[in-house]
Amino acid sequence: MSFLLTKEQLMIQKMAREFARKDLAPKAAERDLNHEFPGDSLAKMGELGFMGMLVSEEYGGDNLGTIAYSLALTEIAAACASTAVVMSVHNSICCGSIEKYGSDQQKEEFLKPMATGEIIGAFALTEPEAGSDPQAMACTAEKDGDDYIINGTKRFITTGKNSGVTILLARTEPTGSKGISAFLITHGMDGFEVGRVEDKMGQCASDTTDLLFNNCRVPSSRMLGKEGEGFTIAMSGLDAGRIGIASLSLGIANAAMEESIKYGKQREQFGQKITDFQGLRWMIADMAMDIEAARLMVLNAADIKERGENCTQAASMAKCFASEMAQRVTGTAIQLHGGYGYIKEYPVERFYRDARITTIYEGTNQIQRVVISNEILKDKKKKKK
Ligand SMILES: Cc1cc2nc3c(=O)[nH]c(=O)nc-3n(C[C@H](O)[C@H](O)[C@H](O)COP(=O)(O)OP(=O)(O)OC[C@H]3O[C@@H](n4cnc5c(N)ncnc54)[C@H](O)[C@@H]3O)c2cc1C
Repeated sequence: MSFLLTKEQLMIQKMAREFARKDLAPKAAERDLNHEFPGDSLAKMGELGFMGMLVSEEYGGDNLGTIAYSLALTEIAAACASTAVVMSVHNSICCGSIEKYGSDQQKEEFLKPMATGEIIGAFALTEPEAGSDPQAMACTAEKDGDDYIINGTKRFITTGKNSGVTILLARTEPTGSKGISAFLITHGMDGFEVGRVEDKMGQCASDTTDLLFNNCRVPSSRMLGKEGEGFTIAMSGLDAGRIGIASLSLGIANAAMEESIKYGKQREQFGQKITDFQGLRWMIADMAMDIEAARLMVLNAADIKERGENCTQAASMAKCFASEMAQRVTGTAIQLHGGYGYIKEYPVERFYRDARITTIYEGTNQIQRVVISNEILKDKKKKKK
């Protein structure tokens, strides 16, 4: 386990920080308030290489590795969590899955423009009756000659409205994990439309939508991977995705801590700066320890992934710990600001709301604990046989 960052990783972190502070931070509050998709910022991020960080050079990416990606995502999230979640789903799950499972033609058609941020990816697994239990999905893909006919509804899809391509999971067999397949769907296909757009508590500048399929005809050439491989694709994508959400959570917490220090050093009560009260100094110390522990877990998971090893347990642990850390740290940040923390003028109010979803999406933290314990106990099961 090495946490020594290379010069290149530090340079990428710096570049992301500079971009995030200059371009994203000044617009974040207004975009959140107006539920405005950060399309122009994402386009700039594409030009700077942030949308193809994990894509190989052959397909127009920079192949910078998971550690550099995690560092950049943390910086983006510190400025605007809504932009960061779009970046995370796009890079970790969508680009990663298409690079790993896509045909040459799919990589040419989708991965190349994704790597430059020309189009953005979405990932559609959840349904109204299938959240934590994706195998309960009811969306079907029925074979019809050379095509598949898709019927069903997907729920809570990040970038559902603004995506250029969506990885859709649907049932090609009525039961079992091997009865699920993945398809690449684009807006404008007959029988596919965006349903309701959710009005959320936080991360309001990213769109979260229903996707509706009504006899949508999809050619077999749009199947990602083989028939029946969809569940494997989704689970492997989520391993990578959880490192993304952990990095995002870390970014929100970093920002909350920074704002708290800034505020605490200038606010005076009882004739002294509030950071001179020991009670508040200990709050800062607790925030810093919590953030540092999460940072090391996130880097560890990214390192394991970058080395090509199984990162399921490390990714779930990092996601679970970092997202719960972000709840604690943003809550403490509000407390430290007193009444001002509850007012929208102060960014910690947004950080608190933005952090809340991180324990829920890409698998709730209850599900992360199921994954972690299954990974730990799997060795014991093997020994018993
Ligand atoms: C803003 C937002 C963005 C999202 N983006 C996407 C996206 O891009 N793509 C996508 O496919 N989905 C997305 N989701 C969906 C998200 O992943 C699901 O909401 C999440 O997996 C939980 O599913 P659910 O909401 O149906 O809750 P449920 O599964 O109904 O869970 C309800 C409660 O039961 C608990 N629970 C369920 N099963 C167990 C168990 N076995 N053990 C212990 N506790 C359990 C859960 O932890 C939770 O507390 C998004 C959701 C939101 C709100």
